[in-house]
Amino acid sequence: MKAIILAVGSELAYGQTVDTNSAFLARALSSLGITPVAHWTVGDDRGQIASAITTAAEAADVVLISGGLGPTPDDLTRQAIADAMGSELRLNERCLAKIKTFFDSRGRKMRPSNRIQAMIPIGAEPLDNPLGTAPGIAARLHRAQLFALPGVPDEMKQMFRQCVACRLPTDSGVIVHRTVHTFGLGESDIGERLEDLLKSDSGAKLGTTVAAGLVSIRITSEATDKNGAERQVDEIAAEIRSRLGHLVVGEDDDTMASAVGKLLRERSQTLATAESCTGGLLGRMITSAPGASEYYLGGVIAYSNAVKRKHLGLPAKLLERHGAVSEPVAAAMAAGCKKQFESDWAIAVTGIAGPDGGTEEKPVGLVYIALAGEGGIEVHRNIFPGMRDVVRLRAATAAMNYLRIAMLPR
Ligand code: AMP
Ligand code: MG
Repeated sequence: MKAIILAVGSELAYGQTVDTNSAFLARALSSLGITPVAHWTVGDDRGQIASAITTAAEAADVVLISGGLGPTPDDLTRQAIADAMGSELRLNERCLAKIKTFFDSRGRKMRPSNRIQAMIPIGAEPLDNPLGTAPGIAARLHRAQLFALPGVPDEMKQMFRQCVACRLPTDSGVIVHRTVHTFGLGESDIGERLEDLLKSDSGAKLGTTVAAGLVSIRITSEATDKNGAERQVDEIAAEIRSRLGHLVVGEDDDTMASAVGKLLRERSQTLATAESCTGGLLGRMITSAPGASEYYLGGVIAYSNAVKRKHLGLPAKLLERHGAVSEPVAAAMAAGCKKQFESDWAIAVTGIAGPDGGTEEKPVGLVYIALAGEGGIEVHRNIFPGMRDVVRLRAATAAMNYLRIAMLPR
């Protein structure tokens, strides 16, 4: 079963509003075993909307439309559905009564413009909207079951769950997704190591995405039964794990922070942080994992040299001799932090996030990350490419990864 999702609204076409409805609908469809093959976005143009509906209804089994059902003249989805059906709009008395009740119950007067929302194409049926005024529309067109929902995200979601999900075909099989997250290699390196799996067209489909330095491999299996699909996904995920080893951070909802947290919890160990250029971002990311209080003690944002001296015990001479962004300072920050917090592990980050402050010897993006732990102190010199925020994000993520690697069995 194939579905096409159509988002209607000029604010979406111009990029002023981000289309979140289509993402919601795509996930919902895929969880029901229906493959979303395309998302289309169309502005508030009756002809464009009608022609998109026609093309979609010829190409897919299910067409889900959101937006364009409001009371104002720019909302033209219902007219366009009528055009695509070769039909016309007719007032639905039951819908009109519901809209009147909606206004009455809120002590407001229904405006004449709301009348248009009770107009339904002949041959189509209205869908109840428990949250707002605009009913949705359900119809059959060409090979497709077509559903039009209001654009307001909360109304759209509620109507999808209440009135659409139960009417979708249920015999369409299952789709199982799994995402394996990795850190440490670029997308092209990962692509080469998994080339045969990525190219294979027997069974599951694989693809890669990148975000904040993590390269993720998406696995999608479409099968007739859930067990078969799960098994296929399990086998491929296991193969990826065996090929990539310690590069694999986790799966699905796992994050770098949750992976580090899991290892610390297993070892009943604690962590503290000393951050210069990341300014608290590392602490924020670590504490984004629920239950972080079990292992994260806290940190010092040692942005100035004065704080590095006073709160981490760095000798003034060390800072003068090597500069704040240096291997010895990173090491001393980590050692000082571990001592101050009496933690099992301490991570220190000091670097030049830019855009200014770089020199030939110490360029923008240079970040020293030190890890103090069981086996002493290790310092890693990194040069992260990109803008200030990217450098900081990469630095915080890499810092957690050094700790993760240090805790993995060798
Ligand atoms: P409409 O039903 O076209 O009047 O849309 C009502 C409101 O819902 C719009 O003003 C948008 O702010 C919002 N909206 C419409 N379509 C979407 C969409 N695809 N994603 C997110 N918000 C949307
Ligand atoms: Mg609109």
